[in-house]
Amino acid sequence: MKIGIIGTGYVGLPTGVGLAELGNEVMCIDREPTKINALKAGKITLYEAGLEDLFHKNVNEGRLHFTTSMKEGVENADIVIIAVGTPPHPVTKEADMKYIHAAATELAEYLTGYTVVAVKSTVPVGTGDDVEALIAKKNPHADFDVISLPEFLREGFAVHDFYHPDRVVVGADSPKARQLIQKLYQPFEGQTSVLFVKRRSSETIKYASNAFLAMKIHYINEMADFCEKTGADIYEVAKGMGLDSRIGPKFLNPGPGYGGSCFPKDTMAMSYMARQNGVNMTLINAAIEGNRNRKKQMAKRILDAAKGIEKPRIGVLGLAFKNGTDDCRESPAIEIVSELINHGALVTAYDPKAMNTAQKLLGDKISYASDMYQALEKADVLAVLTEWDEFRTLDLTKAAQVMNHKNIVDCRNLICPDEAKKSGFAYEGIGR
Ligand code: NAD
Repeated sequence: MKIGIIGTGYVGLPTGVGLAELGNEVMCIDREPTKINALKAGKITLYEAGLEDLFHKNVNEGRLHFTTSMKEGVENADIVIIAVGTPPHPVTKEADMKYIHAAATELAEYLTGYTVVAVKSTVPVGTGDDVEALIAKKNPHADFDVISLPEFLREGFAVHDFYHPDRVVVGADSPKARQLIQKLYQPFEGQTSVLFVKRRSSETIKYASNAFLAMKIHYINEMADFCEKTGADIYEVAKGMGLDSRIGPKFLNPGPGYGGSCFPKDTMAMSYMARQNGVNMTLINAAIEGNRNRKKQMAKRILDAAKGIEKPRIGVLGLAFKNGTDDCRESPAIEIVSELINHGALVTAYDPKAMNTAQKLLGDKISYASDMYQALEKADVLAVLTEWDEFRTLDLTKAAQVMNHKNIVDCRNLICPDEAKKSGFAYEGIGR
């Protein structure tokens, strides 16, 4: 099949590579010439485990192409996938639809023959109707259907998740569109269930899922706070809870709060949509508020570990919002570091993959190290903020030698508390 993908970011690029690997002819379209020029020159523009090899393979085999031209990408496509950003509106925090509306309007005139326009971006309920209306207005003769095809990939595991999705949700009201999408997902037959639902249900499923996961994270974080006060161990508690099949073991890891480009914005967008529809989503609102405070609480813990030291030096391990990605959007690490700086701390940080993306957000407000030990030189506190496996290999004796004071605040519970204590560190983890 011929597929055009509009938006070559964290969703569009892995999707394009994955669909090309399945044998489709894929044209990735982006309005940013620097991105497209880099990709055309064989340079991958973001980090995702396993993506680079597949990217080169499919480019070399002639199935994966890149363009800034909407005409080139959309003309003759059987399916056009919209994967542009839907960031929070700066004031209302609802999902900002300007990129979606622009993409719909721009693609309309180039549709040829019957085309399915699939909205993969996370969009408010009713967006399918808007996209349909915009295309029909611009090109009244176009033969097309608009469907909702939400993306559930986890950043850091995008390639794995492309090939092993828990489910594929398709919001398509037209039988013809359903047939085409069924063909697209034929390679997954027997392995993954493809759930066909009404377009508005599909749009809701994405927000309902993300908001639920965000609340689950916030719940276990609050439970971790409770364990710290009572002497219980959050891991034992989470294990005991997770064995209940109604709860399940996943997303019960305590940490510095949820972040990334999805949960914060999607919870806020869900809350906004609910308010617009006269529904008060108290649980989601509480999670948003609690999660916001959590990052401040984490920064306070780190500063408290350096109590009495004027201008404490903090060695930070981890800037990405999670492991496996260089994405720092809404990263708890970035927010915690900003809070530390605002309180007069001096921060030196190291991240295995996210130094460049972090530098775009933090600029020269902090120092950047080329490895873990350089980040810890003369530090009064070591703060672990992202759960990279590399940090588990930290040699605590070596760390103790380079640091000024032996304090660890481990917001990801990566370092063994007993080992830390054996090496002379004052250690504070989460929930135990
Ligand atoms: P992104 O910002 O990484 O990428 C979006 C890309 O779209 C950018 O490269 C931008 O230049 C391009 N673009 C914007 N308007 C365009 C236009 N008119 N024509 C061509 N290109 C255009 O965003 P992302 O993280 O890939 O997210 C995309 C959507 O997918 C969002 O709605 C997001 O909520 C959703 N989503 C993201 C994830 C994730 O893990 N990142 C997971 C599931 C769903």
